[in-house]
Amino acid sequence: MKRYKVCIPNTHRDYFDYQTENCTPCVGARVWVPFRNQKKLGIVIEEQENSNLEKPLKNIEEVLDDSALITPEILTLCRWIAQYYQSPLSEVLALALPKKYRLGNPCELPKVDCYQLVIPVEQALQQINSRALKQRALIQWLNDQNKPVAKSLLSAEGFTSSQLLPLLELGIIELSQHIKELAVVSPTTQILKLNQEQESAFTAIRQQLHHYHCFLLHGVTGSGKTEVYFHAINEVLEQEKQVLILVPEIGLTPQLLARFQERFQQPIAIIHSSLNESERQIAWQSAKENRVKILLGTRAAVFTPMPHLGLIIIDEEHDASFKQMEGVRYSARDTALMRAHLANVPIILGTATPSLESLYNCKQNKYTRLMLQQKALSDTPLHYQLIDLRAQILQDGLAKPTLDLIKKHLEKENQVLVFINRRGFAPVVLCHQCGWMMDCKACDSHLTLHKQSGQMNCHHCGLSYRPPSHCISCKSSELIPVGAGTQRVHEYLSEYFPETQVLRIDRDETRKKNAFAEHLIKITSGEAQLIVGTQMLAKGHHFPRLSLVVILDADAGLYNQDFRATEHLGQLLTQVAGRAGRAEHAGEVVIQTHLPQHPQLNLLVQQGYEAFAHALLDTRQQAELPPFHFLAVLRAQSKSQKAVTQLLQATKKYLQIPSLTIMGPAPAPLARKANQYRMQLLIKSSSRPALKSALTQMREWLTMNKLTNAVRWNVDVDPMDLS
Ligand code: ADP
Ligand code: ZN
Ligand code: ZN
Repeated sequence: MKRYKVCIPNTHRDYFDYQTENCTPCVGARVWVPFRNQKKLGIVIEEQENSNLEKPLKNIEEVLDDSALITPEILTLCRWIAQYYQSPLSEVLALALPKKYRLGNPCELPKVDCYQLVIPVEQALQQINSRALKQRALIQWLNDQNKPVAKSLLSAEGFTSSQLLPLLELGIIELSQHIKELAVVSPTTQILKLNQEQESAFTAIRQQLHHYHCFLLHGVTGSGKTEVYFHAINEVLEQEKQVLILVPEIGLTPQLLARFQERFQQPIAIIHSSLNESERQIAWQSAKENRVKILLGTRAAVFTPMPHLGLIIIDEEHDASFKQMEGVRYSARDTALMRAHLANVPIILGTATPSLESLYNCKQNKYTRLMLQQKALSDTPLHYQLIDLRAQILQDGLAKPTLDLIKKHLEKENQVLVFINRRGFAPVVLCHQCGWMMDCKACDSHLTLHKQSGQMNCHHCGLSYRPPSHCISCKSSELIPVGAGTQRVHEYLSEYFPETQVLRIDRDETRKKNAFAEHLIKITSGEAQLIVGTQMLAKGHHFPRLSLVVILDADAGLYNQDFRATEHLGQLLTQVAGRAGRAEHAGEVVIQTHLPQHPQLNLLVQQGYEAFAHALLDTRQQAELPPFHFLAVLRAQSKSQKAVTQLLQATKKYLQIPSLTIMGPAPAPLARKANQYRMQLLIKSSSRPALKSALTQMREWLTMNKLTNAVRWNVDVDPMDLS
């Protein structure tokens, strides 16, 4: 009799104990087990050393895998996440497995029908009527291929079943099942000769390719970071090893994939949120079987088993989307660092605007910083200008000097990007007589007017409402939309520049499949001259003639209470500004602001991101915030405000430990969302181990606590924001 720890997804527990009589599953294999009158799929995570039974356990019913599906390396990584991010191991493992495998599908690549010539070609041709030209061509073609060919390839060549079947019957060809080969796009780009900065960055990386080492590749937009990646990847591929590249959701554009495909004559697996389950399984399995050497993916790709991993690259390492904001709240960047440690391979964090965490790690000599300060193609400096909005008349969010500048650039037939990080027409509708605003019934938030759909939407819970015809409070019909979103700016600019094609890019406009790609083509071809967009456009995309970037609403990031808001604003402004002057056109960046004297904004504009980031690091140190101190948030929500407050107050009492500072309970920035009252405790410590052990105890205590009956709660370690 043997006993095993079995992890069952979605049970909110780390594991359950089972026994077996006649089978011996290996650690990492899937099993079917009885669980509360149901049959559930579990993953064996440990064989119990001590098998003297105090009481008999339920039996494992069936073992699905002969070898580990969750490899030892990935299991260790998942255990680390579970402990560090305070999540049940069962939920972490569920993230690590494609859904098909969580449902019990066999762990193998799907096979397709293939045909192959099985007798000498001359003999085959003799058996076929000399007038059956198409069939003869088919035989000849199969002979040229000299291997089993998938049916889909035959169809693509114009051959049909009516030509195939008689040949099968005659025994000239045979049908067999084979794993589908991954497509290779033949390379068309030539390998660029690295410039001096790139060369020294690459040399530094090449010297550390055989063990863990973290590089921060800090290169301004257009400095050719991708080219440095390519050279490093090439070295690793020559050693027959695999490469994992993580990109933010927003950055995984067809453009980037195409660049990789053109450069490497290799099949490339991709993993991101819009794959279907079969595509995801094939990509995952191909990486596990070492059939692909390059895996390009977003957050969850960090869990993909790669037996010959030789290098990890995180592109745009500062991007907030590497942190999962629900369920298991893990950071894929930090998880990748741990993975590189475990696999003892180098990792490159690339960005034009490093996170304060990574800059601090460089200062501490934990990472090696590699700088690329020159643009690879041109080096026309950006010219920044702040436009003081105080006492100016705004036309739908735009000041007159801004409009004049846009006009000047359009007249030179250049492209202009107007950046506004707010979709919709207007963020509030206000009564001119009494100041009443239309709010969401379920949330503490104002409704956004969307003119195209003719509705008012809540951007927090998704409810939509019909716009009111009069004020609910004073009955006045003078309701005015206040503030501007992308729709309003787009509408105004289209009227102001009737000759110019104005393109809008935001989540509403690009919801339809392929819409984003089609819009991008209009930009790359230069057809659209004036572009109004949200942060979807902040990076990666190529604007051939862009010479002016206008930033309409920088102030929101300066007013925001959140401790990372200013850092994110600086990153966003720098990234958006980096779109300008990429090619032969000198770039101008205009920032409209009511705070033209704001010290950090001025530092950013006059001295650049580096000086700005170091100033922010100083303020973080004074305020005892990350990366100097460590943070976690306990968030709780319920229909009952009292239940939430009670729970958080009790937790605060429980957590009275000298090494912790606890703030709250305080209402969350959006205190009511979808009819739930939301509050939080902020837990801070200067010691990572002290914080971790307190959180682990707190979580056990909460799991047992009756006060949590009516309350949903979660712990967020290293939160990206406090909302
Ligand atoms: P980044 O990712 O740092 O913003 P890219 O890698 O996209 O920059 O490079 C910007 C442009 O410069 C690309 O068009 C790229 O082909 C070109 N480029 C990069 N390195 C070189 C080089 N060594 N020689 C010539 N062109 C280069
Ligand atoms: Zn009113
Ligand atoms: Zn709402």
